[in-house]
Amino acid sequence: MTDPHRRSVVIVGGGTAGWMAAAAFARFLPRGTHIALVESEAIGTVGVGEATIPQLRLFNASLGIDEDAFLRATQGTFKLGIQFDGWSSAGGSYIHAFGTIGRGWGLVPFHHYWLRHLQEGGTSSLWDYSASAQAAAKGRFARDPGRPELPSGTAWAFHFDAGLYAAFLRRHAEAAGVVRHEGQVCMVERGDDGDIASVTLDDGRIVAGDFFVDCSGFRGLLIEEALHAGYDDWSAYLPCDRALAVPCETTRPLTPFTRATAREAGWQWRIPLQHRTGNGLVYSSEFLSDDRAAELLLAGLDGKPLADPRPLRFVTGKRRRVWVSNCVALGLAAGFMEPLESTSIHLIQSGIARLLDYWPGDRIDETDVADFNRRTDAEWLAIRDFLVLHYYANGRAEPFWQARRAAAIPETVAERIALFRANGRIGSHPDSLFTGVGWLQVMIGQGIAPAGYHALADVLPAAELANFLSLSARHAAHVADKMPTHEAFIAAHCAAPSFSEKVA
Ligand code: FAD
Repeated sequence: MTDPHRRSVVIVGGGTAGWMAAAAFARFLPRGTHIALVESEAIGTVGVGEATIPQLRLFNASLGIDEDAFLRATQGTFKLGIQFDGWSSAGGSYIHAFGTIGRGWGLVPFHHYWLRHLQEGGTSSLWDYSASAQAAAKGRFARDPGRPELPSGTAWAFHFDAGLYAAFLRRHAEAAGVVRHEGQVCMVERGDDGDIASVTLDDGRIVAGDFFVDCSGFRGLLIEEALHAGYDDWSAYLPCDRALAVPCETTRPLTPFTRATAREAGWQWRIPLQHRTGNGLVYSSEFLSDDRAAELLLAGLDGKPLADPRPLRFVTGKRRRVWVSNCVALGLAAGFMEPLESTSIHLIQSGIARLLDYWPGDRIDETDVADFNRRTDAEWLAIRDFLVLHYYANGRAEPFWQARRAAAIPETVAERIALFRANGRIGSHPDSLFTGVGWLQVMIGQGIAPAGYHALADVLPAAELANFLSLSARHAAHVADKMPTHEAFIAAHCAAPSFSEKVA
């Protein structure tokens, strides 16, 4: 008989991953579980990570967090998608908008009707049918402007200050009983069975537990340095290995989307927050020097820089096993993929949810561990595929981008592209975070054109097709037009005090 009450859990690391885990464990683990978190202010956190995907709303809601209170506390803004500038060609632009695009008719997904329309000489854009894309282009936002009987088709995520989010969750977690230890872990002790027994801090304190969660960042203090999980290096597929991050002054109006602009050997992010804009350049050191990267980044800011660019180095990939012995890694300790589709914080969230799903009683079952690791691999690989698609289907002329077009891609990506090119079918992957509508937008946005479309899309008479598409476009535009501006929505619902002063 297992006794889930006897567990004591130690989280090492107090960045976004550590405090998300602490807040979730305090909410969902059985009463009586002792939860400790060790962090070191001297070491600090990576401090970037500001754009998210809509799933974060579920995480916050599961903790009982009020969305407006969260946005006020984190200087947050709303995000309807990611605008990709310069990927299909130096001047091209498209958006990966959240939510749905049009509505399917019968058994046929919407985009096949649109493909038929194009192939019959039509000229509308895929994004004419996306309310999120329309609202993003107009700088508008509302939570649910649709009528209940006719859903708006929008979905939203957030931009926020990751440091403030960790602090916000810390307040939640500590109020729920999590015990924080300030100090630097300098030793990890293992028992005879190989499990971690305790960690020793630089002042000699020993923090013991029977389950450990490694949230120590890139170095993977427990999972790698103590347990030697191994690392799968994916840089052959995703070769960017450096980033420079710099905040700049906010420029108005606040855009309700993240921007990812392709540059000569990488790409630049722009993330609008209430109190500042987050920027960074992700690049390949093989093709771009650090000095040139800094020059490009600073030249691409739309406000005055508020600090010097901060360098970060990484190797894209993932721990070979994310759960080893009595330790699970979350966040950067588990691995890293560049923030092109804002997936890292989501991977923390899904890692926590999976760990709770496989939560061990008083005995860790190796079949559970193997299945946990298998599912983690599948989720990461599906995201990796999606990122590879962005690089592969580029239309730029610089050597870095030519090399990405010529490089080998995973078979899974090649198959999906071939399937789409034939008849517009998007394919599916059971573990894929990104749905067909995400793949569709990136494939269309970056110039992959299908030769055909679903044969059943021809069943609709031409006049009905025209009417159906026109209604769909009018609905999307109407939803967007009913929304207030993004700034007006923030001012009315969730302005941080400093933002209220600015708009007053
Ligand atoms: P960290 O923030 O590094 O925290 C590690 C913690 O461990 C710290 O508290 C540290 O003090 C502690 N620690 C380490 N060693 C010890 C020790 N010996 N003793 C005690 N404590 C210790 N994610 C997104 O979702 N969206 C984005 O837009 C995004 N952009 C990113 C851009 C870049 C360039 C990078 C590098 C990452 C980005 N991420 C993004 C990822 C995001 O930043 C991380 O997933 C997130 O911040 C989680 O970090 P972490 O908590 O795992 O690690």
